[in-house]
Amino acid sequence: MAKTIHIAVVTIPAFSHQASIIQFSKNLIHHHNHFHITIIFPTIDSPLPPTLTLLKHLPSSITYTFLPPIHKQSLPQNLSPAVQIQLAVSQSMPSFHSTISSLSSSTTPLVALVSDPFANESLQVAKEFNLLSYIYFPPSAMTLSLFIHFPKLHQQISSEFRDYNEAIQLPGCVPIHGIDLPEHFQDRSSLAYELILQRCKRFNLADGFLVNSFMKMEGKTMKALEQEHKDSVFLVGPIIQNGSTNESKGSDSDLECYKWLMKQSTKSVLYVSFGSGGTLCQQQVYELAFGLELSGQNFLWVLRAPSDTSNEAYLGAKNDDDPLSFLPKGFLERTKEQGLVVPNWAPQTRILSHGSVGGFLTHCGWNSVLESIVLGVPMIAWPLFAEQKMNAVLLCDQVKVAMRLKFSEDGLFERDEIAKVVKGLMLDGTENGIRERIQELKDAAFDALKEDGSSTKAIFQFGNRLETLVTDI
Ligand code: UDP
Repeated sequence: MAKTIHIAVVTIPAFSHQASIIQFSKNLIHHHNHFHITIIFPTIDSPLPPTLTLLKHLPSSITYTFLPPIHKQSLPQNLSPAVQIQLAVSQSMPSFHSTISSLSSSTTPLVALVSDPFANESLQVAKEFNLLSYIYFPPSAMTLSLFIHFPKLHQQISSEFRDYNEAIQLPGCVPIHGIDLPEHFQDRSSLAYELILQRCKRFNLADGFLVNSFMKMEGKTMKALEQEHKDSVFLVGPIIQNGSTNESKGSDSDLECYKWLMKQSTKSVLYVSFGSGGTLCQQQVYELAFGLELSGQNFLWVLRAPSDTSNEAYLGAKNDDDPLSFLPKGFLERTKEQGLVVPNWAPQTRILSHGSVGGFLTHCGWNSVLESIVLGVPMIAWPLFAEQKMNAVLLCDQVKVAMRLKFSEDGLFERDEIAKVVKGLMLDGTENGIRERIQELKDAAFDALKEDGSSTKAIFQFGNRLETLVTDI
């Protein structure tokens, strides 16, 4: 009988990263049934409810442990949720260390660690315990390329990236403007910048990278990465949640969505959502509401209470007010035949897989992007934070399955622009080729995951690599 290969996986307290790495772990076990995986969760306050739902559906060869929580109140309150998450992960490293120590001396000792990029202090612990170490990268290969090349870019470009006039050319990637880099890269004097730079420098501690993307989507980027990191980059995506596990709440509002969608005609509905924690400011909520109304198109909108910080709800909602109370006066009444507004959360993959949905206005979080591609729904790009502007560039300029909104001078997307682009997608999507391209990409995603598909092969290669290296040790 083959020897059990025990791998530790460490993630960060953000739902989209946890969901992605849990699904990756399931895929790995599916293809290598003598692997055992222990998922380690650094935690802020308490486990995230939608993640607990996902953990109910694990095979017995995946176990998990929550590290003692870091209290939100003990984190600097003036920093963004993304930086708070990174600080919480760093503060969890002593308990991570003891967890790895006890797993390493268990009856099935650990042989490898797979880490989230934002928990990569863990790679130093892996070295200490002689473990092989890999980074599971939930976003795109283009973003991985940025992270790998960032220490060099930091030296080469002395101005702030937002002021840098030339396009940045990452190998094998579509050119990007400095302003489209994630916000952490934009202020050299900030703690966020310092943290991301340290994190990117640690990438060279990894033995390899597993990336949630696929060849048709990012083949050129993959080839360029391969040249620099031979045999150590694995495109294993698209890894998305399936419909049943995506229903985090199973609530009455979920039921309301399905009932409402059932009544709409084929591909007539625009789904509008900003991920697990994205928020808009009050003025932008108004513009979006009026824009949707003006477009005359059906919509299903997942709405959060407004905030001036675009990832305000990432560590859980701060505002208990009813989100619907922030809509323009009379909006719900006027649009009752046209749309449905759902507060806070909706079963996204179930919605995207519904035949009535014909478009997705998305914040371009990578999970949302992949879900939309796998389910064949063309997009409107409304990036908010993190690497979402880069994802928007990839979607609009490289694979051309999303339409772009233009900002007004005051930095808002205004109602007329929103209405124009919504109509462009919902009414002219066939004419302008976007529906055909998303169908091609959907088919390619499906092929990548077939038994002989590129991503399945990559998962096999990764598993076989571990087995060979472990046998050689
Ligand atoms: N999601 C969901 N319902 C919601 C909002 C989000 O199921 O109302 C899921 C969505 O399907 C995706 C994840 O949460 O899997 C969001 O991940 P993404 O990378 O798109 O964005 P992030 O949350 O990291 O901003």
